[in-house]
Amino acid sequence: MTDYTMTIGGKAVTAATTFDVINPSTGGIAGACPSGTADDVNAAVAAAKEAYKTWSVADDEVRAQACRDMSAALTEHADELAILLSLEQGKPRAGLGADFELGGAAGWAANTAELSLPVEIIQDNNQAKIEVHRKPLGVVASITPWNWPLMIGVWHFAPAIRAGNTVVIKPSPYTPLSTLRMVEILNTVLPAGVLNVVTGPDSIGPVLTSHPDVAKVTFTGSTPTGKRVMASASDTLKRLTLELGGNDAGIVLPDADPKEIAEGLFWGAFINSGQTCACMKRLYVHDSIYDAVCDELAAFAANIPVGAGSDANSVLGPVQNATQLALVEELIADAKANGGRVILGGERAEGAGYLHPLTLIADAKDGMRLVDEEQFGPVLPIIRYTDVEDALASANALSVGLGASVWSKDLEAAKKLALRMESGSVWVNGHGGLNPNAPFGGVKQSGVGRQFGVEGLKEFTCMQTLHA
Ligand code: NDP
Repeated sequence: MTDYTMTIGGKAVTAATTFDVINPSTGGIAGACPSGTADDVNAAVAAAKEAYKTWSVADDEVRAQACRDMSAALTEHADELAILLSLEQGKPRAGLGADFELGGAAGWAANTAELSLPVEIIQDNNQAKIEVHRKPLGVVASITPWNWPLMIGVWHFAPAIRAGNTVVIKPSPYTPLSTLRMVEILNTVLPAGVLNVVTGPDSIGPVLTSHPDVAKVTFTGSTPTGKRVMASASDTLKRLTLELGGNDAGIVLPDADPKEIAEGLFWGAFINSGQTCACMKRLYVHDSIYDAVCDELAAFAANIPVGAGSDANSVLGPVQNATQLALVEELIADAKANGGRVILGGERAEGAGYLHPLTLIADAKDGMRLVDEEQFGPVLPIIRYTDVEDALASANALSVGLGASVWSKDLEAAKKLALRMESGSVWVNGHGGLNPNAPFGGVKQSGVGRQFGVEGLKEFTCMQTLHA
């Protein structure tokens, strides 16, 4: 038996079997998740399709109020959800942890309420009147990952619902419980069938993303999976928003003050223990301040407590799952074997759970796996450069481009360089900060489409041009 249920058509649905969700802080069991089947996916899509009939024509203000109500419900249940999120995801509640994620989720839902897509008048004269209307698409499938499951869930379904679509969300099997509970709570303020959730084995994801009654897939996860989702969507030409992996570069210019930027560099790289799509994942530092930046960063990082999510003293938590931990360890071992110099962390202490110390690898080089591949964990390679054009070429050399940053006292010079970086977002003297009104997404193989703000809302609509 499980305390957690899927929500389909506004009703709690159990499954014949469950699977265990692991608490990454301890290696123990966080809870039992319903192991839904293809039949559950079909039932959820059918419920969403039925609800779409009325939700798609509901008054705009009704849909805006639904987003406000979702925000209020998330705030009301923030404590309970943060505890559950911390338990299964591993992140502590403090700092930029579980409480921050719940605050972000509620804030994003509230912000979405205030977005609007008014009718656009293209021409209005005695020859013609032409208007462009934005209409919802239908049933949206949302596939979410394990790093920020609640916030990313809201990023997917709030704009979808605001625009008049209905949703079936399938969370990652690593962190499904908080999403199950979140959707159960949100169903107290939404009409039945507008937001449904299914959980289960890996086989149900493709059932959802290829379902003929799904009009759009919004996916956050890895680039290889994003490609599979794109392929499975092609049969019925589903609309897609794909927010995929990155390998964000930061470039520190020679005039930067190492002490001043250390804190920003740290959080840019290590928020959520490095398990964030737009984390800084490789840092290029000018030779003239290379050692000073390494020292300042190591000094700052050494004071950040890493521990179990349930420990009130922890500021950062474990790697979320064993597969990811194995990848992080593999990349560190490869870096060490190829001349990387560990200046902080490096070795995991034996023990339960997936805790890994914050790790800085100096003397890293392009071509090392830790630099070229996305580590998605608490380790940052630091690469020395002498010519900024070389650093820029390295930053732009990979097939991904989600975020990037430039660090300098000279804002104009930094902005000029920033605009030459091949990424969907670029920051000056910061990395990874998001704003609900600022479009976010990748270039190259980091994704398709944009989330947030009016641009993000448009992705959940199609245009209808009215010639009257
Ligand atoms: P995946 O991209 O494999 O999975 C993300 C989600 O997609 C999960 O819910 C997964 O569920 C689902 N999924 C997988 N295959 C399909 C499919 N064919 N059709 C529909 N849904 C599918 O991420 P992982 O959890 O395996 O992590 C691997 C790597 O992804 C990490 O190392 C990291 O680099 C990157 N990542 C990026 C994130 C980001 O925010 N951009 C977030 C998390 C990870 P199921 O497992 O049931 O198939």
